[in-house]
Amino acid sequence: MRSEVTELVREDGRVRGVRYRTEDGELHELRADLTVACDGRWSLARAQAALAPKELPVPIDTWWFRLPRKPDDNVTALTPVVRARRFVLVIPREGFLQIAYFGRKGSDAQLRERGVESFRREIADTVPWLADRVDELASMDDVKHLDIRLNRLDRWHADGLLCIGDAAHAMSPIGGVGINLAVQDAVATATLLARPLSQGDVTAGTLAGVRRRRLAPTIAVQNLQQVLHRAVLKPILDGKRQGPPKPVVALMKAIPAASFVPAYLIGVGLRPEHAPEFARRAAVRGATP
Ligand SMILES: Cc1cc2nc3c(=O)[nH]c(=O)nc-3n(C[C@H](O)[C@H](O)[C@H](O)COP(=O)(O)OP(=O)(O)OC[C@H]3O[C@@H](n4cnc5c(N)ncnc54)[C@H](O)[C@@H]3O)c2cc1C
Repeated sequence: MRSEVTELVREDGRVRGVRYRTEDGELHELRADLTVACDGRWSLARAQAALAPKELPVPIDTWWFRLPRKPDDNVTALTPVVRARRFVLVIPREGFLQIAYFGRKGSDAQLRERGVESFRREIADTVPWLADRVDELASMDDVKHLDIRLNRLDRWHADGLLCIGDAAHAMSPIGGVGINLAVQDAVATATLLARPLSQGDVTAGTLAGVRRRRLAPTIAVQNLQQVLHRAVLKPILDGKRQGPPKPVVALMKAIPAASFVPAYLIGVGLRPEHAPEFARRAAVRGATP
């Protein structure tokens, strides 16, 4: 914890661990039979192993900021708001509201050029009950731009290294499902590799097994996210629609149980993973989970 990997240790073309810097600035080396790169969508380990992900087109970006939450705010759950080509998500957190503003990819410079006053107005126009507090945004420095990426590696491993989670396949925030996939990758990795690792028998084939197991659910969710970008978010930002496509809304109204399909894909996924027996702790009476 609180350490930053600065480079991979390589010997004879094989990854043998990492060099890292601790909080006090000291450099260390950690050697390992296998290095698992779970360092996210800008993975340094992946880049140093010369693994390059294939980018999928993404038409949108997001900007995040916080505003104060007041006791009489009538918001208890994640609330999407669509109005006049704008899409804003209000997420109630303890003591504050976390807000995501969606816009066209590549429009960060324009948004900043228009300035904080214009941004405050846009937010107040879209979500009128926030008008009493948009002044809390002192400048555009309070609004963080997050570049949405959707990509995937063809090969998730190199000799001595395995990429999982966003390092292997960056996910969009749409559906709030990237964390599920990253955790499922980790569980699958433990399930498939614990025994070969303990026996010193990890081959390229064993590492490739993690990708084989996780590829289909990854592709399914990324495809679903692409459909949602194109069919829901982009038309809203282009002013062509005020919400999800009408046939989808009609289907959900006619057959409410149909909403089970996207909910299952997002919440559980195509390939749920279960902690292997050796990784389970015995339940302790009275312990908080
Ligand atoms: C704007 C945005 C919002 C999102 N919202 C959601 C959401 O609500 N729900 C959801 O499920 N998914 C969401 N996603 C997707 C989700 O964030 C990712 O899919 C998920 O976090 C991937 O998990 P991960 O563990 O692979 O990577 P990360 O969560 O990115 O974790 C990587 C970790 O590695 C660390 N790290 C990186 N480099 C180094 C280094 N050199 N040395 C040491 N440590 C390092 C980082 O500090 C970080 O802790 C969102 C994505 C974006 C872009």
